[in-house]
Amino acid sequence: MNINTYIPDAFIEDVKSYLPEHLELEDFINACQTPLKRAVRVNTLKMSTAEFEQVCSERNWQITQVPWCEEGYWLERPEQEEEALPLGRTDLHLSGCIYVQEASSMLPPTALKDALDNAHTVLDMAAAPGSKTSQLVAMLNNEGFLVANEYSSSRLKALSATLKRVGAHNVGLTHFDGAVFGDYMPEMFDAILLDAPCSGEGTVRKDADALKNWSLQSNIDIAEVQKSLIKSAFHALKVGGTLVYSTCTLTPVENQAVCQYLLDEFDGLMAVEPLNDLFIGAEKAATQEGYLHIWPQLFDSEGFFIAKFKKTGAKAVSEPKRKKGAFPFTPMPAKQLQEFMQYLKKQFGITALPGTVHSRDKEVWLFPDVENERLLETVKYSRIGILIGTTHKNGVRLEHEFGSCLGKLASKNTLELTAEQGADYFNGKDVRLSEPSSAQGEAIIRLNGASVGLGKWQKNKIKNSLARDLVLDGRLITWE
Ligand code: SAM
Repeated sequence: MNINTYIPDAFIEDVKSYLPEHLELEDFINACQTPLKRAVRVNTLKMSTAEFEQVCSERNWQITQVPWCEEGYWLERPEQEEEALPLGRTDLHLSGCIYVQEASSMLPPTALKDALDNAHTVLDMAAAPGSKTSQLVAMLNNEGFLVANEYSSSRLKALSATLKRVGAHNVGLTHFDGAVFGDYMPEMFDAILLDAPCSGEGTVRKDADALKNWSLQSNIDIAEVQKSLIKSAFHALKVGGTLVYSTCTLTPVENQAVCQYLLDEFDGLMAVEPLNDLFIGAEKAATQEGYLHIWPQLFDSEGFFIAKFKKTGAKAVSEPKRKKGAFPFTPMPAKQLQEFMQYLKKQFGITALPGTVHSRDKEVWLFPDVENERLLETVKYSRIGILIGTTHKNGVRLEHEFGSCLGKLASKNTLELTAEQGADYFNGKDVRLSEPSSAQGEAIIRLNGASVGLGKWQKNKIKNSLARDLVLDGRLITWE
């Protein structure tokens, strides 16, 4: 019980006005004061759930499946180990095999899952720090094109770092007020997640001060932003496409009322897709409209709200817009591309890349395949795909992201690190080999079977090529 959790009286009075009849206020307050159970999601781009379960059983980590996400688990580690080595410093985390994500935050991508089966182009309109973006990338198996947008510059950096760690290579990052998508990219997306900025009333179990600045007026103000975003999402969605709207707040002002605004504004053009059957037990959280209102006491989680819609008809935007300026990338010239691919085949046994290689000055980028070139031309991206190399007089020198995102394609010149070697690698040191190797040139570094970066063979060691900003400091991976 966290008695320091701040729950203002005015908030409780407000909650009383919309708490469903079958729920008790006391249970809600108790849940708010109970610390959250930690949950993680297995990043299936790097590790299977079976492999994760095996590792947990070997380490005596207790796991319980999250009922609404096949890759989600509540996780408990032995206390002594947890104190000596936080989860973020373990091999599973550093290699991008797991992502720490609150269980209810896994719900919005789950609600979008069936739509992703036939989706090529997906928008995550408010994406940082990237919990749900990385979940969507894994669900898409790194295929198609996912536009991940974030308005805040500092949070955009966190999003970019998340995507590198998990090995995403099918993402375009943008840095806009999400309200612009409707005008700039009308009817371009098969599926959209709008995990909207909100008052965060559902997050008090994680942050005891989350309600410090609570007021009904701030709920009303933020709902105006949410309405501008959901309207933009409507226009950006193709007819037949699916929109999931979610928040981590409880008030109907930011939830049901925003959804009702969408339905009224685009009367007859959006249909609610009920979520009552999303998982066994979901009906406990279902509202009469077919949305999920996750109260923290229902599934012992944070509070959340999720709604799902299908677009059934179009309404044109009054004035579609387009960015000015030329696209700064060009496809890599054929001869240079051929030499590059020959190198990848010789060094790593890689015969094809999942996308198209583009250049900008000396940079070499791998862009995801897009179904329509206009997707790349209508807005300015902060980055598209991944930076895989830089050109030098002797050819292309590979960059870290090639190793961490594409290393799994390699069939030779790979090295699986031991725990001690892994700690050295992430601490920026060269990796000592147990016996000298005659291998030469670049190597893919793997940890727990997951590719984490690049190095260079040098007889009895691998020279570390981790960029300085990725080097960590201190105790990593091993703790005894
Ligand atoms: N989806 C994220 C995840 O799962 O990791 C969490 C998103 S958080 C609920 C909402 C995000 O919206 C914040 O990062 C915030 O900076 C961003 N944001 C705020 N105003 C925005 C706007 N007008 N357009 C786009 N994003 C916005």
